[in-house]
Amino acid sequence: GEDIRAEMVDELAQKHFPMCMRNLHENLTRNHHLKHFGRLQYGLFLKVLGVSIDEALIFWRKSFSGHTDDQFNKHYKYNIRHQYGLEGRRANYTAKSCQQILMNDQPGASDSHGCPYRHFSPDNLRTALLTTYSSQGLTEADLPEIMNTVRAEAYHVACTRVYEITHARDNVRKGDGIGSGETVTHPNQYAAASRALER
Ligand code: SF4
Repeated sequence: GEDIRAEMVDELAQKHFPMCMRNLHENLTRNHHLKHFGRLQYGLFLKVLGVSIDEALIFWRKSFSGHTDDQFNKHYKYNIRHQYGLEGRRANYTAKSCQQILMNDQPGASDSHGCPYRHFSPDNLRTALLTTYSSQGLTEADLPEIMNTVRAEAYHVACTRVYEITHARDNVRKGDGIGSGETVTHPNQYAAASRALER
C-alpha cells in the first residue's frame, strides 16, 4: 500500500479528515497530548490511512513534544506498537467505524475522542464547524440544515452533508454523499473518498 510520512499528516488532516479526526488532530497539536481513547481512535485511523509503524512512531513522538524520550518510550511507544499488532496478543486491530465511535466509550469533558456531531454541545459544534471548514467553503448559511440533522440524531448524515459542502469545489453536489449517494459510515471511508477526488 501507500506510505504516508509523518510530516504529511498535518496537510492531509486539513484537506481530507472528517470532523472527529480534525478535532483529535487539533487537540493533539494544541496540547501535545491525547488521552487513551483519543490516541486509540486517531492512531488506528492513521494506521488504516496508510501510516506505517515507523512513521507513526515519528508522528506521535513529535506530537508529544512536552515529553522526554524516556517518558515517551515508557508510556506511549508500547501502546502505539500495540495498535499495529506488534505487542501483546498481536491482534490485527482495525479502525473504529462511526457506529462504534458514536456508541462506545462515551467521552468525558476532558476527552477529545468521539463524534463531534454527537458529543459536542450545539454551540461548540457550530463554532467548531465554522472554524474547521470555512476555508473549505462552509458558511453560516449551511449551519441550520446541519444542526437540524444533528437534532434529529442523524449524526452521520450531518457529517455527509459537511462532506458535500466542503467538496463542492470538486463538483460534489447535494445528495452525492461520499460517492453514489452513499452516507459516511467510517472515518477512513470519508478520508479515502476525499483523497480520491484529488487524484
Ligand atoms: Fe467521524 Fe463518523 Fe462522526 Fe463523521 S459521523 S465525525 S466520520 S464519527
